[in-house]
Amino acid sequence: MPTIGIDLGTTNSCVAAFRNGRVEIIANDRGNRVTPSYVSFTMDERLVGEAAKEDVTSNYTNTLCQIKRLIGRTYDDPSVQADTKLWGFSVIDDDNKPKIPVIHSYKSNIFCPEQISAMVLEEMKNTAEAFLGETVTDAVITVPAYFNDAQRKATRDAGEIAGLNVIGMINEPTAAAVAYGLDRQCKSERNVLIFDLGGGTFDVTIVEIKGRKFFVKATGGDTHLGGEDFDNKLVEHFISEFKQQHGENISDNKRALNRLRVVCEEAKRKLSSSTQAKVQVDALQGGYDLRSGISRAKFENLNFDYFKRTLDTVKNTLTDSGIEKENIDDVVLVGGSTRIPKIREMLEKFFDYMELKRTINPDEAVAYGAAAYAFSLVTGKDTVMEEFVLQDVIPLSIGIENKSREMGVIIPRNTTIPTKKWNNRQTLKDNQEKMILKIFEGERALTKENHFLGAFTISGIPPAPRKEGKVRVLFEINASGILHVKAIEKITGNSSEITIARDKGRLSEREIKQMVREAEKFRQKDEELKQRSKAMNALEDFAYSVKDKMSQKYLTTRQKESLMSKVTEILHWLDINKKEPVEMSHLEAKKKELEQLWND
Ligand code: AMP
Repeated sequence: MPTIGIDLGTTNSCVAAFRNGRVEIIANDRGNRVTPSYVSFTMDERLVGEAAKEDVTSNYTNTLCQIKRLIGRTYDDPSVQADTKLWGFSVIDDDNKPKIPVIHSYKSNIFCPEQISAMVLEEMKNTAEAFLGETVTDAVITVPAYFNDAQRKATRDAGEIAGLNVIGMINEPTAAAVAYGLDRQCKSERNVLIFDLGGGTFDVTIVEIKGRKFFVKATGGDTHLGGEDFDNKLVEHFISEFKQQHGENISDNKRALNRLRVVCEEAKRKLSSSTQAKVQVDALQGGYDLRSGISRAKFENLNFDYFKRTLDTVKNTLTDSGIEKENIDDVVLVGGSTRIPKIREMLEKFFDYMELKRTINPDEAVAYGAAAYAFSLVTGKDTVMEEFVLQDVIPLSIGIENKSREMGVIIPRNTTIPTKKWNNRQTLKDNQEKMILKIFEGERALTKENHFLGAFTISGIPPAPRKEGKVRVLFEINASGILHVKAIEKITGNSSEITIARDKGRLSEREIKQMVREAEKFRQKDEELKQRSKAMNALEDFAYSVKDKMSQKYLTTRQKESLMSKVTEILHWLDINKKEPVEMSHLEAKKKELEQLWND
């Protein structure tokens, strides 16, 4: 069975498979190699990808995008609060988990981010299956290097809901490094810096590549920095300009905001090749048109802080890797936003005017690397991928809370994975029976500043003076960067192993199972819709062919009239029912009526 690599992006997604000794990027049914990560709900359909994106200005409350910005985050996360203000659809608070209400099939439905991401993943799976002509279940999904444990686990849950067997996860810049390394076939050792700036996330990774061996030295980034932020700056700029010019505030007008965002994104892209771009929207609000424009210089000025932040991350990652910038052999650009000239200019200058590598396609490199990695996972040693070795690192330190609520780092960031570390804990009081262990990730000294991963209690510690009750805690991080923690009571040897509790934002096993069932229902409904639209087309074809053939046959006037009237009736019926959920039985009955008349 084939395996695939999926780049699940904030803005676009891409799928690839390793076949006949090479990676192939798979085009969707419209012939495009990237698919917008959009899902739209209409009265009787669920659309994913290009068709969904086309709905963004007309059906904005039910057209969902940028869901990667919600995945694995809590509702009160400041970035969730800021993002949702500018979106056309709503996000609600369900026990501090962000959820998305939509109207579908005349009913209100509430989805979690994992379910929506699952729909995008399933679309990519279907694209691959159509191309490969086989069922695909095994997949590697990519995640930003800087995704934390909750975001990784939530992405894996999305894969499960989509009916995928997630055989591994790979960091996006690492996947791009694999694509670069395989393409370039570096014979001698090279230090490569991957600069990955996409729609929603930013990562910098430094990889040592030699042949098919990839050793990540350090990674750094920001899970909330990318092209969508640059669009938002433009949106904010034009909101205030429109207010000044016409006294109209569009901040709460979701439709106007959506229409404005679409033109701002277009203007941003234009500014990568021109120095000026028009920004125009007819009747934006209060009957006023927006007739404006923006220069490249102004765009750069609005986003200067963001651009500078990317360079700061490059500097910090270099420091973490212990590699001097002079010893970086190649700087590789990945992600759509690396087309912005100012970003290239800043990077070039920083690397003393070294030529930046654009040899790999910035939109496809991540999926390419993921497919190669997926192949290496299932085939092991093979002639093509012989000697493939990949060693990644964790982006954030993992630790346990100490008694003064400080972060006791157990596994420092940039440690090579997979990794295992034991930590010994002692009781703090005489005859202490239980111990509560709180696990965090992050770089700050106090745990309250870091990200809480989960807590568990180990009980049944035999009575003993303080410091003599002992518990061993095992921290294990697998090759996908996912953490498991177990605790073992040492004195009794009682190995009551406890796996870390899922943190509050995560889905429970039961919820995932329920969502898998719901996804199955959607799948069935989509299949029914497909069959129905096929049957409608077949009936339309048949009606037209009867109309054409009538002139070639000897028929009486009455026969002609009755056939013609049936054909007209059917075509009219099809026309008015184009958007309505027509029952298959009705379609079959109509076809039979015409067939009978024709055969008679
Ligand atoms: P990715 O996540 O890699 O698909 O990148 C998508 C982001 O790249 C979106 O925010 C796009 O607006 C942005 N993008 C694509 N082409 C360009 C361009 N020519 N100039 C600036 N940004 C672009």
